Amino acid sequence: MSKELRMALIDSHVHTVLCRHAEGEVADFLAAASEAGLAGLAFTDHAPAPCGYDARHRMPLDQFSVYEQMVSRSRSGGYAGEVLFGIEADYYEGFESFLPSWLKSQPFDVVLGSVHYIGSWGFDNPDNLEGWRGADVAGVWRRYFDLVGRMVDTGIYDVVAHLDLPKKFGHRPPESSIREMAAPLLDRISRAGMAIELNTSGLRRPAAEIYPSVLILSLARERGIPICFGSDAHRPFEVGFGFSEAVRSAREAGYSDCVVFRQRRKHVCPLPVV
Ligand code: ZN
Ligand code: FE
Ligand code: FE
Ligand code: ZN
Repeated sequence: MSKELRMALIDSHVHTVLCRHAEGEVADFLAAASEAGLAGLAFTDHAPAPCGYDARHRMPLDQFSVYEQMVSRSRSGGYAGEVLFGIEADYYEGFESFLPSWLKSQPFDVVLGSVHYIGSWGFDNPDNLEGWRGADVAGVWRRYFDLVGRMVDTGIYDVVAHLDLPKKFGHRPPESSIREMAAPLLDRISRAGMAIELNTSGLRRPAAEIYPSVLILSLARERGIPICFGSDAHRPFEVGFGFSEAVRSAREAGYSDCVVFRQRRKHVCPLPVV
């Protein structure tokens, strides 16, 4: 894809070093966005969780002001594109004591909603692969989709991140059961007015596929669910990764436009021709 064609796209899922498992300065992420010819990016680092949920993979609450400053200062660093301020917030047991009021109190452009745990099992963490051994794959997907459904029903998030994340290491139930599980979930997403992201990090994993699959994307399109694009970059060179393929998948599923969230409102833009 040429730079001119990519200019319409914003990478709406980018992490920073504050989450403790990413690398690179904010300026390097912006330089990578320029290099990739993107119109801009949204920093969406993992939200703090004062209750201690998954503390190893997120900034503590007292570092949130550092995050805010890093992002706002980066706007005066000579980067020509748009810098949006977002957060990737998990749905987890006990979320309600913190997240709903906190998310509302912060000046976010976009809030990504994620499920990374089923009970105490961080099923997408490569250190926890033993949980998959001998697992009932369709059963795991069902429990995951159930949690995503509950997340959607809270109404506190804008975008469902990496919708079919359980496929990360290649565990997939038959297409017929994916369709049967995804349809009612997508109905809920549509009712909630949420968007879903085309998250290209799946291309870098054993799944070797964008989240979600074109099958799920087509079901989303039938319901008029808007889409945005995210690389889930944890290193500068990952910014904008696989976006040509993501645009092709979106078109294959019948999409001709996408959305960008600013101040938590959707703005529609046409898909570039790739
Ligand atoms: Zn992360
Ligand atoms: Fe995530
Ligand atoms: Fe992420
Ligand atoms: Zn993510």
